[in-house]
Amino acid sequence: MFLLFGNDRAVLLDTGATASAEHFPLRRTVDELIRDWLAAHPRETYELLVLHTHAHRDHVAADTQFGGRPGTVVVGADRATAWAYLGLTETNRETRLDLGGRVLDCLATPGHHESAVTFHDRYTGLLLTGDTVYRGRLYINDWPAFRQTIDTLVRFAETRPVTHVLGCHIEMTSEPGVDYPIRTTFQPDEPPLQMTVQHLRDIRAAVEEVGDRTGRHVFADFILCRDNP
Ligand SMILES: [Zn+2]
Repeated sequence: MFLLFGNDRAVLLDTGATASAEHFPLRRTVDELIRDWLAAHPRETYELLVLHTHAHRDHVAADTQFGGRPGTVVVGADRATAWAYLGLTETNRETRLDLGGRVLDCLATPGHHESAVTFHDRYTGLLLTGDTVYRGRLYINDWPAFRQTIDTLVRFAETRPVTHVLGCHIEMTSEPGVDYPIRTTFQPDEPPLQMTVQHLRDIRAAVEEVGDRTGRHVFADFILCRDNP
């Protein structure tokens, strides 16, 4: 999850895999971070916007913790709701979101999930790719869409300053091509979250190499998992 502060509002991207505020106090944590930020940057009103990289359950579970929070907009993660809020359509694949002096580029990037959006924070240069690109098992639900998405990301990153590519999981070990077992809770010596623009190019090359083959395709820093053509 990422919490980005602008002059007028903050945006929280994703709410994690656990609904329970007791076991996973996301709301309390975000409230504390905003309180501390506002102490250093006082203003009369300040909003919180809750958006998502996509609608999978492990990215939306704690949305309910933000219900009733004053000055807060929680945008549904499903494609119709999320894309409409951001102004994304089948033909308009890139929009902007202004947090007040801090602009995010919002890219429609389906493939892992039909609702997927990638956010580029111009202030830091971070490209936040959700589950579309990360060091792990890239589960691809719609191969043609994923292929187009990777092209979009490579093109975008070649014309904009991208400092790091940050996904939402780490599943690879530090040994090339070897991932941790599914559901492990112990990942010693895991590689860093941040990836590079070169990784985007590597994924594009991998997609070309895989061609029309379904199944699991292992590469050094990621594994393409494709269950349908
Ligand atoms: Zn996902």
